[in-house]
Amino acid sequence: MRATVMYGAGDVRVENVPDARLKEPTDALLTITRACICGSDLWPYKTMERTEEGQRMGHEFIGIVDAVGKEVRTVKRGDLVVAPFAWSDGTCEFCRQGLQTSCLHGGFWGGTELDGGQGEAVRVPLADGTLVKLPVAPDDALMPGLLTLSDVMGTGHHAALRANVGPGKTAAIVGDGAVGLCGVIAAKRLGAEQIIMLGRHADRIALAKEFGATDIVSERGEAAVERVRELTNGLGAHSVLECVGLEDSTVTAVSIARPGGAIGRVGLPQEDTIPEAGSSFFKNVTIAGGPAPVRAYIEELMPDVMEGRIEPGRVFDRVTDLDGVPDGYRAMNDRESIKVMIEF
Ligand SMILES: [Zn+2]
Repeated sequence: MRATVMYGAGDVRVENVPDARLKEPTDALLTITRACICGSDLWPYKTMERTEEGQRMGHEFIGIVDAVGKEVRTVKRGDLVVAPFAWSDGTCEFCRQGLQTSCLHGGFWGGTELDGGQGEAVRVPLADGTLVKLPVAPDDALMPGLLTLSDVMGTGHHAALRANVGPGKTAAIVGDGAVGLCGVIAAKRLGAEQIIMLGRHADRIALAKEFGATDIVSERGEAAVERVRELTNGLGAHSVLECVGLEDSTVTAVSIARPGGAIGRVGLPQEDTIPEAGSSFFKNVTIAGGPAPVRAYIEELMPDVMEGRIEPGRVFDRVTDLDGVPDGYRAMNDRESIKVMIEF
């Protein structure tokens, strides 16, 4: 089969790899119908050290079940399913608590051991705990929105939950990528009254407004902090969704949070320490978050996508086939595209 392999920064190839196949009785085998490129795939795209064997890429996908192991109960051959970006058993202490990204027996797609979603097929470990059946046909118009449940919509929702977004509150979103944009959707869905998007790209700002952003802040650094203060009567935001993971974005997030406020961070941290320790301490700001347990949110968010109340699929502004994946990485890295969907 063919799949996407990254060999080093800027070096993404689509090539022949060993066919995905069942290994364990709890596995399912999927033929991928849709997948996408993630903002987090751009970190290795910028920095990965060259390796001989490369690593398989892709952790957001929808597929049709081709075969299941003897112990799989919840999905069967022919089912259309969505996979979250981490696989999990659904039964351990942390899964029962709704924290499937900490599953005692789970893990993440791709790398050197597992198949990735940016390929023709995937072996899914622990299929019963991991996969969720979709009640639509593979060519349904809702497919882009349902695909975002594998990561970005669930991740934006997680940021909003960890930032304690709620009715009547002000939410500020740092990061105008697909996750930040889904954070706008999530903040609105959870009842935020004022939604401030920090962003500078015209196409992303336009989409943020359509998703429910009430204010746009395009300044950077201290000027951005000042602008948010002005928009919040000098108090700061109750809830800050940190959707980037860089030092600058974290400094901004802490600076615009009001005393007693909360920051939900879902951007993969690129630094070892959290900056602004002193100011966050003196403001009694809660800093929470991590890899979103999107598996916990799929059932909750799916009806809103199915019934058109939210349209997170609009974050996809480019569609490619598998051969176009390397150029899709380039386009996202160059900010030509917000998010690239792969159709098989
Ligand atoms: Zn578990």
